[in-house]
Amino acid sequence: MSSMTGITKGGLAWTPNFVDQIDDEKCIGCGRCYRACGRDVLMLKGIDEDGGLVAADDDEAERKVMVIEHPENCIGCEACSRVCPKDCYTHTPLAAA
Ligand code: SF4
Ligand code: SF4
Repeated sequence: MSSMTGITKGGLAWTPNFVDQIDDEKCIGCGRCYRACGRDVLMLKGIDEDGGLVAADDDEAERKVMVIEHPENCIGCEACSRVCPKDCYTHTPLAAA
C-alpha cells in the first residue's frame, strides 16, 4: 500500500505518521505527550469507575488518561510517541487515493 508523502524543507520525502490510537490501559496520564504536541490534538480526561470518560478534574475520575480530542489537527510528527514512557501510541500514514 502506498502512503501520502510530502517533502521536508530540504526536499526530502516525508511521510506523516498520524496519531491513530492511545492505549488507555497503559496510559498513566503523565501529560508528557500533551506538552510535546504543538497542534492541539490531545486532551487529558478522567475515567470513572464504569470506564466512561469524564472531565479530568471531575470528582468521579478514578484515574487520568490522554485522549485524541482533535485528530484532524495532527500533522503526523510522532513527537507524542517519542516522549511517551508507556508506549501507548499507534500511528498510521494516510493511504494514497
Ligand atoms: S503526531 Fe505530532 S501533531 Fe500528531 S498528536 Fe502526535 S505530537 Fe501531536
Ligand atoms: S505520554 Fe503516554 S503515558 Fe503519558 S499521558 Fe501521554 S499517552 Fe499517557
